[in-house]
Amino acid sequence: MAPVWNSSLWMDMFDELLDTELDNDDPWTFNFNYGMDPNLTEPEKRRGWKTYRRDVQAEFTCSNCSKWWPSGRSLILFRYRRRTNGSGTVILRPLKQACRKCQGPYELPGFCKEKVKKCLLALISHIKKNCYGYKSSNSNMDDSVKPVWTKPHEVSFCEACRLGICRQDRE
Ligand SMILES: [Zn+2]
Ligand SMILES: [Zn+2]
Repeated sequence: MAPVWNSSLWMDMFDELLDTELDNDDPWTFNFNYGMDPNLTEPEKRRGWKTYRRDVQAEFTCSNCSKWWPSGRSLILFRYRRRTNGSGTVILRPLKQACRKCQGPYELPGFCKEKVKKCLLALISHIKKNCYGYKSSNSNMDDSVKPVWTKPHEVSFCEACRLGICRQDRE
């Protein structure tokens, strides 16, 4: 069975990793917003919001015709901030893809556990750097990691392309 979108996998993994990665008891909450704006407004920036985006290998299943396809560039958007009282918030938006066989609805990506873990470790290393002033120590956690493209990209079936934020636009 191909993995399907599982929000509790992300939430549970984030809690688990925060425990081991962050050396304090700051409470962080993990939320989802499937329509979140990819860009921050100036007032949001002033309130301390930051963004992080990462391409993650994913698998999609069409709810209309059951076709399955893998993607090397399923884009994940994050927003995060830490308030002055120490409490933090992360918001995740997964970008969807549509089936090119039947041109069905946009589908949410499914991720295996290891990909979720790697993505959240990278996010947490950014949180440590930008909210807690840690020096980034792990060089393979940075943004220079090139995603693996599985096949030519299907621009018209990619929600990130439609929004103009797909990695393809920057290469
Ligand atoms: Zn389909
Ligand atoms: Zn795209």
